[in-house]
Amino acid sequence: MYAEKGNHIITTPIEHKAVLDTCEHLERKGYKITYLEVDQYGQVSPEAVRNAITDKTILVSVMMANNEIGTINPMAEIGKICKEKGVLFHTDAVQAVGKVEVDVQKMGIDLLSLTAHKFYGPKGVGALYVRRKNPRVRLSALIHGGGHERGMRSGTLNVPGIVGLGKAAELMVRNFSTEIPRIKRLRDKLWDGIRNNLDEIYLNGHPTERLPNNLNVSFAYVEGESLMMGMKELAVSSGSACTSASLEPSYVLKAIGVGEDLAHTSIRFSIGRFTTDEEIDFAINKVVGTVRKLRDLSPLYEMAKEGIDLKSVAWTGH
Ligand SMILES: *Cc1c(COP(=O)(O)O)cnc(C)c1O
Repeated sequence: MYAEKGNHIITTPIEHKAVLDTCEHLERKGYKITYLEVDQYGQVSPEAVRNAITDKTILVSVMMANNEIGTINPMAEIGKICKEKGVLFHTDAVQAVGKVEVDVQKMGIDLLSLTAHKFYGPKGVGALYVRRKNPRVRLSALIHGGGHERGMRSGTLNVPGIVGLGKAAELMVRNFSTEIPRIKRLRDKLWDGIRNNLDEIYLNGHPTERLPNNLNVSFAYVEGESLMMGMKELAVSSGSACTSASLEPSYVLKAIGVGEDLAHTSIRFSIGRFTTDEEIDFAINKVVGTVRKLRDLSPLYEMAKEGIDLKSVAWTGH
């Protein structure tokens, strides 16, 4: 609806493919996309948003929390700048909803997307929050034919999905104040158990401004895929769940400056509503045991321990 006003969109290089692929599609249709730099933790600087806005900018889209590294962005600051500049602010809040407090007023958000299955609702249903005043956001129809959802998304609605999303949201809000501290405690226990028993491990993402359920760790000298295979009792992902079928290192880790070597050793752990203390104890033992076993087999780890600078080694290529 804003194509006449301008053709410039601002986003980040570490968005989920849901946003990145959409931006790529818009680029082919003539839109200009600015991908803001993120810092070593994956955060966008509000000042960078301000500097990127031009009189052609029609939308800023910055994810509230990253799905791989869990880093949370300074939403209220970015929202304030967008408001000052009269530019609409969209956020992919899929990871944030149900994990951290989300407030479209305080954060100055005009458009917010969420999906039910990330907070224990059914798959195949999500929602888009659309601000109705200050400013009133105008949207062009996504699907034509029938006029459902104020003409924005025609077609008979998925009632079980919608009810499921609503019920999941109700349960999430009701349990939030007890569930989230519990999940965070379990996540911290897992991290402490790992870091107190292993050396050469690195936390990816922000140390404090991160989702309570997310832990993303690089285990130097241990190949992520081998680590996963060595602890099949644990459901974890190397890279991102959506791309781990490929052996490309994660583009998110790359964007925050994690070298290719360490990126290949990274594992994402997620704690959930049904995770127990016993499972965390089991996971700590499993992770520590498997990493030790794999490192015992690793000549690189041995060389590093002997003080050999691996960068000085002349590898012969094929
Ligand atoms: C899962 C996820 C999506 C995609 O949501 P689906 O409903 O699974 O398509 C988008 N963004 C983020 C940050 C996600 O984690």
